[in-house]
Amino acid sequence: MNKASIKDLSKKELEEAIKEAGGQSYRAGQIFRWLYKIAVGAFDEMKDIPAPLREALDARFRIISLETIDTRRSLSDGTTKYLFRLEDGNTVEAVLLPERTRATVCISSQAGCKFKCDFCASASAPFARNLTSGEIAGEVMAIKAANPGANITNIVFMGIGEPFDNYENVLKAARLFNDKDAFNIGSRRMTISTCGVVPGIERLAKEGMQIELSVSLHSAGDAVRSKLMPVNKRYPLRELMASCKDYIRSTGRIITFEYVLLDGVNISRESAAELAGLLKGVKCKVNAISYNKVPGSKYGAPKDKDVKVFMQTLADAGVNVIHRKPKGEDIDAGCGQLRASRLK
Ligand code: SAH
Repeated sequence: MNKASIKDLSKKELEEAIKEAGGQSYRAGQIFRWLYKIAVGAFDEMKDIPAPLREALDARFRIISLETIDTRRSLSDGTTKYLFRLEDGNTVEAVLLPERTRATVCISSQAGCKFKCDFCASASAPFARNLTSGEIAGEVMAIKAANPGANITNIVFMGIGEPFDNYENVLKAARLFNDKDAFNIGSRRMTISTCGVVPGIERLAKEGMQIELSVSLHSAGDAVRSKLMPVNKRYPLRELMASCKDYIRSTGRIITFEYVLLDGVNISRESAAELAGLLKGVKCKVNAISYNKVPGSKYGAPKDKDVKVFMQTLADAGVNVIHRKPKGEDIDAGCGQLRASRLK
């Protein structure tokens, strides 16, 4: 018999399962704490759960955890990258980005990615499947276990995969992260990053969840953007920006636009002016990220002097922009690099 993974259940679904097993629904909170706070590997370790309920759940569910098969720690900034094996042999990556008093975990939402952005390492390995909510949570669980001292305060869905191509499971995982009996991470400390899947942006706007939204822009012109990101042919800038503006209007929240700086591609003075024009009157921030060079990629990291001009042009036009240097360059920390190098 193939048992279901209990970590794929929302709290509501677990309450239902407990009732079906003859228990009381308030036990869901207790079981969540055993699963996510104490991280037990078996039902019989759940000491304050009555034995009959433990046995009934054990008959129906399994408790999964991800197996860590590679770890790389950056000597320069402490960024640590993990490669995990899922039960079916697929692999995914997640990254711990420690700061002095807090830490961010960057997680994958899919094993592989269908969107094939031209500069991204995830594009060089095949798409396998969506991750379940329990597997997504499992990435954070495994990093917590490996770093007992880390104070994980923030979660970003910026690893491998397109979160809005796996919308239900991503939102289910976000609710798990938010749950006081599980990870207790505030919604505002979670960020979903999309390559611009418009229906996902529209759906998130109606979710009523205070989660942060990032949109990967990378160019303010359709011609260049379509070359960098094939998704732009399906959802061109007009449509994308309309959905972003609707999102900002209906949620009262701002959007962060991600803009990867690629040498000689999207960082000229003209590109900056075009970006400023596109974002005129839009309540937003821009994160300009220097390209983290992927081995074999035709794209290169920007030169300091070009970054300066790009940043200054945006600032002069009143755009709220910050420049970020890539982290963990010495450990292949760019999205998908570890998975891709393993598959080769
Ligand atoms: N699919 C989602 C989330 C994953 S990628 C999205 O596209 O937003 C997270 C961010 O990292 C995106 O902005 C992506 O374009 C960027 N990125 C990918 N590879 C990169 C690299 N080598 N250097 C810098 N940023 C990169």
